[in-house]
Amino acid sequence: MPSEKGMKKPQPLLARISEALNRDIDGQARLDLLTTIIADSLETDVCSIYLQRDADTLELCATRGLNPQAVHKTRLLTSQGLVGRVVKQGAPVNTANAPSEPGFRYMPETGEEIYRSFLGIPIQHRGYSRGVLVVQSKIQRKFADDDVENLKFVASVMAEMAELGAFVGKERALAPPHSQPMRFQGTAAQEGAASGNVLLHEARVLVPNPVADNPEKERERLHEAMSKLKGGVAELLHSPILSRADGESRDVIQAYWMFANSQGWLSRLEANIEKGLSAAAAVEMEQSEVRTKMAKSPDKYLRDRLDDIDAISNRLVRILVGKDNASDREIPENPILVARNIGPVELLEYGRSLKGVVLEEGSVGSHATIIARSLAIPLVINVSNISAEALSGDPINVDGDTGLVHLRPEETVARAFRDKMAMLAREQSKFRRLRDFPATTRDGVTISLHMNAGLMPQLPSLEISGAEGVGLFRTELQFLSTNRVPKRTQLAKHYATVIDAAKGKRVAFRTLDIGSDKILPYMKRHDEPNPALGWRAIRLALGRKLMMKMQLQAMIRGASNRNLTVMFPLIAEMDEFRMAKSIFDEVLEGERERGHELPASIEIGAMLETPSLAFAPDKFFEEADFISIGGNDLKQFFFAADRENEKVRKRYGALNVSFLSLIRQIVERCRSANTPLSFCGEDAGLPETSICLAAMGLRTLSMRPAAIGRVKNLIRNAEMAKVRQAIDAAIENGEGSVQPRIEKLLKEWY
Ligand code: PEP
Ligand code: MG
Repeated sequence: MPSEKGMKKPQPLLARISEALNRDIDGQARLDLLTTIIADSLETDVCSIYLQRDADTLELCATRGLNPQAVHKTRLLTSQGLVGRVVKQGAPVNTANAPSEPGFRYMPETGEEIYRSFLGIPIQHRGYSRGVLVVQSKIQRKFADDDVENLKFVASVMAEMAELGAFVGKERALAPPHSQPMRFQGTAAQEGAASGNVLLHEARVLVPNPVADNPEKERERLHEAMSKLKGGVAELLHSPILSRADGESRDVIQAYWMFANSQGWLSRLEANIEKGLSAAAAVEMEQSEVRTKMAKSPDKYLRDRLDDIDAISNRLVRILVGKDNASDREIPENPILVARNIGPVELLEYGRSLKGVVLEEGSVGSHATIIARSLAIPLVINVSNISAEALSGDPINVDGDTGLVHLRPEETVARAFRDKMAMLAREQSKFRRLRDFPATTRDGVTISLHMNAGLMPQLPSLEISGAEGVGLFRTELQFLSTNRVPKRTQLAKHYATVIDAAKGKRVAFRTLDIGSDKILPYMKRHDEPNPALGWRAIRLALGRKLMMKMQLQAMIRGASNRNLTVMFPLIAEMDEFRMAKSIFDEVLEGERERGHELPASIEIGAMLETPSLAFAPDKFFEEADFISIGGNDLKQFFFAADRENEKVRKRYGALNVSFLSLIRQIVERCRSANTPLSFCGEDAGLPETSICLAAMGLRTLSMRPAAIGRVKNLIRNAEMAKVRQAIDAAIENGEGSVQPRIEKLLKEWY
């Protein structure tokens, strides 16, 4: 007889599973017991549990019905067979005739050839695969929807149990979760090596009791936690802080408010509780389902909302398990941030306290990456699954040169890593000895090396690195790191401090380069289909002249009686440069009239970041006091390859012959107009590219300070004539890239 709403007992299967969970037995015995309970309950011939051995491999860990000899022997890749398909699609596979399914892979040692029907259910924790639960039977039948539904709950409880270490075995090694050394290969995004301890961006807690036998009580707990959650969000929403807060924070809090009040969400959580889950496990199961569905969405907006769902779900779970105090979040010593992804503003908030950053997503060209570079901390991106594996405080080594990350490293690995860090330190000290020597090639070509900066704490690097000046000062970093538009007086003081710190060396202040992925916290977001091609940089500045004028005034006042160098970002045509320059002239005139001390000298330049500007009229090259090539954007537009999309970005290098030809053309046009030219994109800091840019005729390169030593060392060992010969030979020979020839030369010189 169906019981009344709110009075239901957990389904008998889940109750039996819970009983198995609470028994004081070995992990292997518990797994074996589970397969028996499930097979009996569903009256199937086979029940098997495959657990994730590592990110790519599944291992048969228990079975009722298949050959027991295959347990812990049968392994398969997550790309293989129906079991792999369950992992890949994050959803059940239910078929009456498994061998006829595409991708079916028969594993002879298991003896499974006699079974026709197959139902595989993903075991997922917060959207990350932990394994697959499989039932099979001889007769050809599709499993009923009820069976599928019940097993989804069983799998959800198993995922929680796995997190709690319930499958840790003494005899047949099933390691405790989050205890094994793990090695991840990601993409190197900022060089350097760091050793420290994990700081999870999104703190996690374990759910101690995934099954509950009193749904009514769990519902009450859920409602209490919900009101606490809503109370917290409402407090934020109505606090005076929010009216002052930045637009992005407001959006996030509003998104939280929406979720916290979503009837649909609440009903789904209640439905999970009805089935026998504890309130916290109910939240995690829903989080897992949503994550799996939304992560596949082609809509970036939807995918971005996942972070909001994660944040609010995690918060609710923390309230439910009583770990909701901010003070529970400990910052470990030598923190290395581990996150799915992070925006430039959040990264700036962590600031210099971090020793390294490891992201599951991210891109080498993104501004978060550029911030990591400004902070000079090693960064590795595209590290699959690390936030599921890492626990706060776990030891971790990050190699920003190779993209390798070692989580909980074994002593031998840790020792090798310490050796590498010592070697890097020795290399750095060797480079430091070159500090006061010029970057002159063996055949007498001198390159002027400058540094890129944007944050005040970077300025001491001017002295340490021996940079001749700041070739690019990204002024937006200052705007990104505050919650409101900085005041003109504050800014003027800031620019004065920067000029003071440079002690007479040139600082090229780039006016605000915002838009695209650099959204100021207090700026209204424009929904644009292609933000990198949209309302950004100088386009936005010319549309919001007041902001631009305020910044230029601050620069003029900051420079008072000293040299001022200003450059405008993303100039695509001559008229844009003229408009920007005339605004500068107007502001300068105003300052003169107001009696402010003017700069002793002024240079106004443009950043060449779109191919169109390379074809601008001669007049443009004559009117600009200098030009700086922004190679990051120029490459993106030249190759039509999004600098933030790792898939396409990697394909096109600066050593591509077509790109170098464009550079050569820009060099020639500047030479004819007698206009100083520099290159300030990230490629300038790569030794092999720097030497080719120099061979194309560039005499000034601006790069992250940490790269200066290595670049200078190469230049001092190089022969420019040989580089030119190699490039000419590659062009003559019809080669697409000069990279192979340059790499060969580099080997000779190192
Ligand atoms: C560039 O595009 O190369 C550049 C230096 O500017 P940013 O990376 O800040 O866009
Ligand atoms: Mg740029």
